[in-house]
Amino acid sequence: MGEFDLIDRYFKRPVRRAALGVGDDCALLAPAQGMQLAVSSDMLVEGRHFLPTVDAARLGHKALAVNLSDLAACGAKPLAFTLALALPQVDKRWLAGFSKGLLALADEHGCELVGGDTTRGPLNICITVFGEVPSGAALLRSGARAGDDIWVSGTLGDARLALEVFRGTLQLPAEAFEIARARMEQPTPRVALGLALRGIATAAVDVSDGLVGDLGHVLAASGVGAALNADAATQLIVLGAPASGAALGVEVQRTCALAGGDDYELVFTAPAAARKAVEQAGLASATPVARIGCIEAAPGLRIVDAGGAPLAQRFTAFDHFG
Ligand code: ADP
Ligand code: MG
Repeated sequence: MGEFDLIDRYFKRPVRRAALGVGDDCALLAPAQGMQLAVSSDMLVEGRHFLPTVDAARLGHKALAVNLSDLAACGAKPLAFTLALALPQVDKRWLAGFSKGLLALADEHGCELVGGDTTRGPLNICITVFGEVPSGAALLRSGARAGDDIWVSGTLGDARLALEVFRGTLQLPAEAFEIARARMEQPTPRVALGLALRGIATAAVDVSDGLVGDLGHVLAASGVGAALNADAATQLIVLGAPASGAALGVEVQRTCALAGGDDYELVFTAPAAARKAVEQAGLASATPVARIGCIEAAPGLRIVDAGGAPLAQRFTAFDHFG
């Protein structure tokens, strides 16, 4: 199968909203009046972002999910994406699975594959997503103000638990492992929540490198500090509940929740007066939200327990070159 047959077979579909899709030198998108285009790229490299053994459909899902998560963090509505793919060889089973997982998530979000590039090389997947947001309405990292609450969506830490099992540093009962593994391999981009938070949240970021590190970006961009309730965040590990049978120590739980990485949840800030509105946004988007701290004027991140006492444990964000 040649390059163009491969593209036709696995990645070319009838054009829907785009003015021009796969098959020409460029795709054409027609942004609506009064909207800004939100653009983001994320690359997935074998051995670094995913294990060689991962199921192809799950990998297709994840490759797009991590990109949609960036749109969500901006409060942008997904429109389209491009796919740049390096493949060591043409593996039809792999391509069928990958494109199925990828395009299923794309359809769920009405996000159209409009182009890309395909080449031979070590397995590498780079997606660029395009979304739209009313001019001036994007959620930025720079809008947090002293007195704002800090919120996070969904669950934290379970993806990291799965990674530690793969690394052999931790064991989980089979059922618990499957839960953790699904969180690692098939994250849920919080697109609906991002849209519902327009006009409510003052700042937002998605949690890809760990809560503490990504919240740190908001603090730096906003020129503020924060107190983060480690116990409130740690409660958000699904497998932290005794009923899961995972029996995790408190340090492990805190590390996974606060510095786990690969969560693809939204951490965002909103004025205390907007608590009802945030809860309403969570309900409207069927996304759990939890309050885990508050923004303060003094710079720096103070990690405290539920009683307000500082934590001795230190946390660091994931850094590819760190
Ligand atoms: P060019 O040489 O003009 O860059 P290519 O020959 O690389 O174009 O690709 C042909 C067409 O197929 C283009 O429209 C390109 O956007 C599209 N395309 C290439 N690879 C992919 C892919 N993996 N997924 C979707 N579209 C792709
Ligand atoms: Mg090309």
